[in-house]
Amino acid sequence: MKDFVLALDQGTTSSRAILFDRAGGIHGQAQLEFKQYYPHDGWVEHDPMEILRSQKLAITAAMESAEVGSSSIAAIGITNQRETTIVWDKTTGQPVYNAIVWQCRRTADICEKMIADGMSDYITEHTGLLIDAYFSATKVKWILDNVAGARECAERGELLFGTIDTWLIWWLTGGKVHATDYSNASRTMMFDIDKLCWDERILKKLGIPASMLPEARESSGDFGVVAAGIPGLESLAGIPISGVAGDQQAALFGQACFSKGQAKNTYGTGCFLMMNTGETSMRSRNGLVSTVAWGLNGHAEYALEGSVFNGGSVIKWLRDGLGLIKSAPEVNILAESVKDSGGVLLVPAFTGLGAPYWDMYARGTMVGITRGTTSAHIARAVLDSIAYQVTDLIKAMEDDVGFRLSELRVDGGASVSNILMQIQSDMLGVSINRPEVVETTALGAAYLAGLAVGYWRDIDDIEQNRKVERLFTPKMSEAERAAHYAEWQRAVERSRSWAK
Ligand code: ADP
Repeated sequence: MKDFVLALDQGTTSSRAILFDRAGGIHGQAQLEFKQYYPHDGWVEHDPMEILRSQKLAITAAMESAEVGSSSIAAIGITNQRETTIVWDKTTGQPVYNAIVWQCRRTADICEKMIADGMSDYITEHTGLLIDAYFSATKVKWILDNVAGARECAERGELLFGTIDTWLIWWLTGGKVHATDYSNASRTMMFDIDKLCWDERILKKLGIPASMLPEARESSGDFGVVAAGIPGLESLAGIPISGVAGDQQAALFGQACFSKGQAKNTYGTGCFLMMNTGETSMRSRNGLVSTVAWGLNGHAEYALEGSVFNGGSVIKWLRDGLGLIKSAPEVNILAESVKDSGGVLLVPAFTGLGAPYWDMYARGTMVGITRGTTSAHIARAVLDSIAYQVTDLIKAMEDDVGFRLSELRVDGGASVSNILMQIQSDMLGVSINRPEVVETTALGAAYLAGLAVGYWRDIDDIEQNRKVERLFTPKMSEAERAAHYAEWQRAVERSRSWAK
């Protein structure tokens, strides 16, 4: 009897491993941080070998903490920081350059050139994305253009490209499997999300040989087995790797948002909103991107995605920048000490504003301050600002899909804040649903892996696992809500084009 599924959650700052049981409960976990490299202003890199080492150590530590032997593991699922790009030698497995992280802006000029060359419509039509340095395609081009000899080697078929999922799969299978799943592929800006294949015109435009690209597969299915003799993981040999998804898509799956119209928001450093749009991919009129949610049972499902650059990070600013609180949880106590923000509004456009405004010249703005304003009002305005930004995304999404959200499922570090969740419910006029297990990203990867090997029967089986920890329902009148939102929009206006 196999008792557990092992999920690998390879994130931007740490590698984690979690063992889940059939009820979706956590049975053991471990987490290892790794180094961030900032070689120039706006550049971010990771060491691919360190990622691998930290991930392997997390696996063994998680199994030790759970006192679980490898014989009781049914399958392995992988979820990962998306878009981060690695190019390696297919014979030695050695990377030709560090991993270029999703946050890295070094390819902004390549993107500007693509936009000037009139590629914008083509990219959106085929990949569902907007041309941006965030996605993998221009990062691969950068490596081929800037690492001595790389382009020649790539053209001779000696180099492989992969996002982190592909890198881990390749190493865990002893170099046998070079594959990714549709959800990760859809974040590279070179994958046709409707045809579910690499887009030849984009590859040609960027000079990326197709021989470098992994095979794109369904998110729940065969990604090979752990090879024999991997140092440190010898006992895992033969365990199938059978679930793979990018972190946000995995969270959508872990939240059991299986039906069209269901949505989740992750309140982390930034906020990531994703809505299941069913079997058709949509194109947003409001600056959101369209992406593959997952491939399962022979077809792909899609999602609309929007992100807020500064979410939980605004709370950290209150702590580290303003020194008004000593720890993140204190924001809640301070904010709860007042009935509202006393007319103060904060627009945390520290690094510009994303969807639906897309204004890189917007800057942080605080308005409505009076002689009576206290630190508590500012703390409250901080929480309001997170909820307002998510509300903006949801309104954009509702406009795109043409119906109103019925409920929002939440996770991420700041979703533990009861006051923030109540504010969010009031602003949206919908209920907020917080699950018992908030490790939804890893859980989603585990579910995808377990489904493929029959550990869970089907999605109904999984849906029953999801237990609501708390529901927050709106307590504000429609008129009050509209008045507050109008105020927020006035404040946003004040913040716009500031740095121009
Ligand atoms: P990430 O995965 O982006 O690193 P997390 O999901 O771990 O982020 O969430 C971290 C964020 O959660 C921090 O920015 C912090 O401000 C916020 N946070 C942590 N604990 C609390 C709390 N008790 N109340 C409100 N916010 C919190």
